[in-house]
Amino acid sequence: MSETSNVDLVIRGGIVLPMDDRSAFEGDVAIKGGEIVALGADLDFAASEEIDASGRVVLPGLVNAHTHECMERGWFEDLPFDVWLNDHALPKDRAYTPADQRAAALLNQAESIVSGVTTFVDMFRFPGEAASVAVDSGLRAVIAPQLIDSTPGVGETLETNLAFFEEWHGAGDGRVSAWFGPHAPYSCSGEALAAVGEAARARGTGIATHLAESRWEDSSIREKSGLSPAAYLDQVLGLGADVLVAHAVHVDVADIQLLADRDVAVAHCPTSNMKLGNGIAPIPELLEAGIRVGIGTDSIMTNNNLDLFEEMRQAALVAKLRREDPAVLPAWTILEMATIRGAEALGLADKIGTLEVGKRADLILIDLDRPHLWPLHRSESGFGNLVEHLVYSARASDVVGTVVDGQVLMADSTLRTLDLVEIRRVVQQQGDDLLRRAGAEAVVLERLGRRQL
Ligand SMILES: [Zn+2]
Repeated sequence: MSETSNVDLVIRGGIVLPMDDRSAFEGDVAIKGGEIVALGADLDFAASEEIDASGRVVLPGLVNAHTHECMERGWFEDLPFDVWLNDHALPKDRAYTPADQRAAALLNQAESIVSGVTTFVDMFRFPGEAASVAVDSGLRAVIAPQLIDSTPGVGETLETNLAFFEEWHGAGDGRVSAWFGPHAPYSCSGEALAAVGEAARARGTGIATHLAESRWEDSSIREKSGLSPAAYLDQVLGLGADVLVAHAVHVDVADIQLLADRDVAVAHCPTSNMKLGNGIAPIPELLEAGIRVGIGTDSIMTNNNLDLFEEMRQAALVAKLRREDPAVLPAWTILEMATIRGAEALGLADKIGTLEVGKRADLILIDLDRPHLWPLHRSESGFGNLVEHLVYSARASDVVGTVVDGQVLMADSTLRTLDLVEIRRVVQQQGDDLLRRAGAEAVVLERLGRRQL
């Protein structure tokens, strides 16, 4: 018998798709101290735990580059963007309490783990609650408190963002990153944006915000400043490689060049953009300009789930529709956007996004034993249609295992770090309560069962 060395975990006998320049191969992944220590066929390691991955794809964990951990799924639907935002979405945030935020974080993180998301960017309220849940759930989290000063009481402030950074940056053995989260160019004053930029840069951390999401935003900012939203944000906040903007729908050639020159990263949220009727982000043009682009679900208010497989498919289809060209954004590029390009957008590509020796062990297992993933074709050198299956046909519900930082968060579809039964109870109770406190019963409950033309 050959000599074996001890590791913590071996994922055994899967179809490993590392998402670097190697193609998929049948084999194992060995993990020690949260790090990938070997990849290959028939690895000779003794492990504390082995997971049988036969018939399953082993893929880098998905990166959700933009969301808000909230509970208002199915509340404010089919409304014009400015009405949705200013009359419903933001005023409702005033009713949020830390207990609501804890319930929302439990809901979103449980849904993320079962859906194959291993890293997420969250912008919302009471960030300490979200960070505390992330420490327990085991997920990798970038949390950017949603700072708003145009309407008092609906968002976080520079003071709460600073306090959050001091308390939580680097928590969970480095899995939790505290960023700054100015909501948008229209909901923060120029002074607030300048102060956020200064505070984030003094601490060497990132900034997440929304940019150029709607025509309403575009005309509001042009009216106020004479500049496009991108040029205005550059003037007041200062754009740079530390800035991640969600949407970038209404950007012209000059804006794209500006984002590229400043090395700004973009979170593409196609479902949210479609659902709110905001338009289609020019993703092929952004990629051609060399911009780092990841994919985000946006919140469950505007999606209405955290299924990044669905989001990949939407991203591919809407780009082809917009350009009237089925060759744009091929499956491989889309899968990169949900993994390594997403990691690059968050400045985490040295740690995650591919399966390589020396990187942190963030990976997921996808069950191929589903009729919608048959047939899978293969040759000596690899698997012919595997990537296409993952982008155009797979669903979040095909994910059966989730590992982050070497910790098994879900195996054989069973959660290990969170209790789904308890989360369902808490979310139902807290969600009902929030609906009343937010005064949203009339909007949400009275339309039930009614025919709407
Ligand atoms: Zn958003």
